[in-house]
Amino acid sequence: MTLKGRKAVVTGSTSGIGLAYARAFAQEGADVMINGFGEAGAIEAERARIEADFGVKAVYSAADMTKPDQIAAMVAEAETTFGALDILVNNAGIQHVSPIEDFPPEKWDMILAINLSAAFHAMRAAIPGMKSRGWGRIISTASAHSLVASPFKSAYVSAKHAIAGLTKTAALELATHKITVNCISPGYVWTPLVEKQIPDTMKARGLTKEQVIQNVILEAQPTKEFVTSEQVAAIAAFLCSDAAAQITGANISIDGGWTAA
Ligand code: NAD
Repeated sequence: MTLKGRKAVVTGSTSGIGLAYARAFAQEGADVMINGFGEAGAIEAERARIEADFGVKAVYSAADMTKPDQIAAMVAEAETTFGALDILVNNAGIQHVSPIEDFPPEKWDMILAINLSAAFHAMRAAIPGMKSRGWGRIISTASAHSLVASPFKSAYVSAKHAIAGLTKTAALELATHKITVNCISPGYVWTPLVEKQIPDTMKARGLTKEQVIQNVILEAQPTKEFVTSEQVAAIAAFLCSDAAAQITGANISIDGGWTAA
């Protein structure tokens, strides 16, 4: 129970990697605030399951990561409900696959808002409390696309490269405050986000579903296997431990060898 008594907010944690982070922190004893969209009954079931499985407090925030005022209110609510916010994970993210000349400008704006600017707004709100308590962990889910590009993902690749830069900047600013700031860069993890981009990739490249999975997605990953959400979450739990106190400003790859090539 390395996180007993810690309080965590994980954005975009109603499914996929975010939900795995929330469950991994709860397993280590942290109280968690989950966030994201979805069907109300399903979200409540996941929230209750965290409390039942791990005996911690789990609450839900419906804050929309495109709205800076809602992001600040989410952080304030966590501090009021839990009495502190020790761990912030910027994880909410969306994707859109299209050639630049056809890329809808409103999709560009939305991807930059959710995948990049939301992290700035959440950090801005969370840092004063972390500084005053002299402890904090800020983690963002970047991507292999923070290090390398793929065609047809201009907004996503731009936002993910930028989140790695934001991570390094915040790490330097907070280095003497016992607050570490890192990002994790997964390769392909089988989640709704990956599943949803298959039809657009089929269209953009003129391929079948099987060809997209084998020749596009797993083509990039030398192990030819998907990363699991639980493997990504295990890194986050480690980054929150005392053993990781000197890891800051890092961009940690978990990509089956993708960015080694
Ligand atoms: P997912 O679709 O399962 O989860 C995305 C989460 O973000 C959901 O909870 C969703 O409700 C939430 N969300 C979306 N828009 C939101 C908004 N406006 N406000 C609040 N929440 C919002 O996807 P995932 O694969 O688990 O992705 C999580 C993160 O991991 C993303 O940042 C993604 O870019 C990153 N990532 C995923 C992969 C992958 O292969 N799946 C690889 C590298 C990085």
